Amino acid sequence: MTGLFDSWQRQIDYLRISVTDHCNLSCLYCSVGSVPHLSRGEILSYEEIQRVVQAAASMGINKVRLTGGEPLLRADLSKLVWMLSQIESIDDISLTTNGILLSKYAVELKEAGLKRVNVSLDTLKEDRFKRITGSDKLKGVLSDIEAAKKSELNPVKINTVVLRGINDDETINFARMSTSEGWHVRFIEFMPLGMPEAEAFGMVSTQEIRECIQSLGKLEPYTGKTGNGPAKYYRLPGAKGTIGFISPMTEHFCHTCNRLRLTSDGHLRPCLLDDDEVNLKEPLRNGANTDELKQLIQQAVAIKRERHHLTEGLAPEKRSMYQIGG
Ligand code: SAM
Repeated sequence: MTGLFDSWQRQIDYLRISVTDHCNLSCLYCSVGSVPHLSRGEILSYEEIQRVVQAAASMGINKVRLTGGEPLLRADLSKLVWMLSQIESIDDISLTTNGILLSKYAVELKEAGLKRVNVSLDTLKEDRFKRITGSDKLKGVLSDIEAAKKSELNPVKINTVVLRGINDDETINFARMSTSEGWHVRFIEFMPLGMPEAEAFGMVSTQEIRECIQSLGKLEPYTGKTGNGPAKYYRLPGAKGTIGFISPMTEHFCHTCNRLRLTSDGHLRPCLLDDDEVNLKEPLRNGANTDELKQLIQQAVAIKRERHHLTEGLAPEKRSMYQIGG
């Protein structure tokens, strides 16, 4: 077998890279107010990230996603996109963003080699956007989504985390956008990751969301090209866009997991929901050669757990989502 395989015979070909732990929003379920952030010297430089990706690519990683924190806050992100696009065998570079700065950078990111973007958006109502994110820039995000489409960063996918009592009454409006605007909407089950304030609202299951939107018509399974992730896709009758469901809580998809995560401070994390990590920054800064980096990547793959145990109450404790890169 060629490629990178873990102990459970899953092929690992996807690396999510957090380029910063800073964010320009403070979402009620993600950020904890005045949290300490990393300094410039603590995060990996673009050259260091490139070295990790080069080593990983030589082992079988062929897709990368840039995330954060808010990745568009990192200066000259297009430069990193371009550096990664030059690595032979990396054939897909994508970005997860809150969209706030997307129209500013969409064209140069596309030119640098970015293929597509996911925009996180939990509400279509301005007052709620303010409540959830602390920002009044909803209109800007909506026009940024259009800018991304115009720049052909397609498909632009909209990621919506559904929280009970916060935005669960909007699932039908988001679903309608797949027809009226051709949006590719993905509903994500909220994961309890140690944020008591948000956990008080609670998760809304995929099953419930499906029931909420059933009056719009029968959801037909969508079999077209979708992506590298765990979403299950459907389409409403006549819709150009799709509706996806990501169900980490009610239908975990660990058996299909194909990814590793690189934190902005240079730790390779085999699982979003497990604190085990391999430190790459220290060896990188102490002159590790490519073979040594490859051994460390192999080590991270070897400790990748079979599945997460969030539903049994075992959440990661060392880092929050904004520090790992969702
Ligand atoms: N700033 C970027 C953004 O907003 O897309 C990237 C980082 S953000 C941490 C990535 C994604 O993680 C967002 O879609 C966010 O909604 C999601 N997320 C954060 N905490 C979550 C949780 N507890 N459960 C499910 N999704 C979560």
